[in-house]
Amino acid sequence: MRPELRAELLRRAERDQAARRSGNWQAAEQADAENLPWLRQVVTGNGWPGRSLAGEDGAHAAWLLAQHADRDPAFQRQCLDLLAAAAGKGEATPVQVAYLTDRVLLAEGKPQEFGTQAVGKDGHWVPSRLRDPGGVDQRRAAMSLGPLADYLAGIGRDLGPPASPVASCPECGEKFEFWLPDPGEEASVSCPGCGETITIRSSP
Ligand SMILES: [Zn+2]
Repeated sequence: MRPELRAELLRRAERDQAARRSGNWQAAEQADAENLPWLRQVVTGNGWPGRSLAGEDGAHAAWLLAQHADRDPAFQRQCLDLLAAAAGKGEATPVQVAYLTDRVLLAEGKPQEFGTQAVGKDGHWVPSRLRDPGGVDQRRAAMSLGPLADYLAGIGRDLGPPASPVASCPECGEKFEFWLPDPGEEASVSCPGCGETITIRSSP
């Protein structure tokens, strides 16, 4: 056990969560930008910081930082491989593997497996692009996750209904609400001001 590593993991995860709780996305981005090279250094030097090295809560904090390492997809994928191997030795949890798997797959432009990543659509929380939706609860159960419908209802209880983003029409400037399509896909919206068809793309 490395108490100073555990303490630093907890400090960085707390900063990550405080920024996200306050809805301060600039602070969250700043935290992510500083946490990423630090985590890379930790992983390079120690391998995955699992339970034995960082304690239960420190290992959870390491997973959270990897979850938010989106700006370096290759590193995030490396974390997933290390995390999965660590879980095989009881150093990490299947739940952590499931969440990071979904995150990495979506970042790679592929559908997620476990439905852990949700987006707002038409006023409801729905899973981001998901492979074989009919089999998702079975896959979730194998990772110690409850049914997807319960998970999505829980997000609604915690966060309330999703707010739709607002954009301005490039033709007339009228503001309108829309729902983001799945990553890499397009949606067409009719401007309520001028009727112009506006195409909305979601970056993969
Ligand atoms: Zn318009």
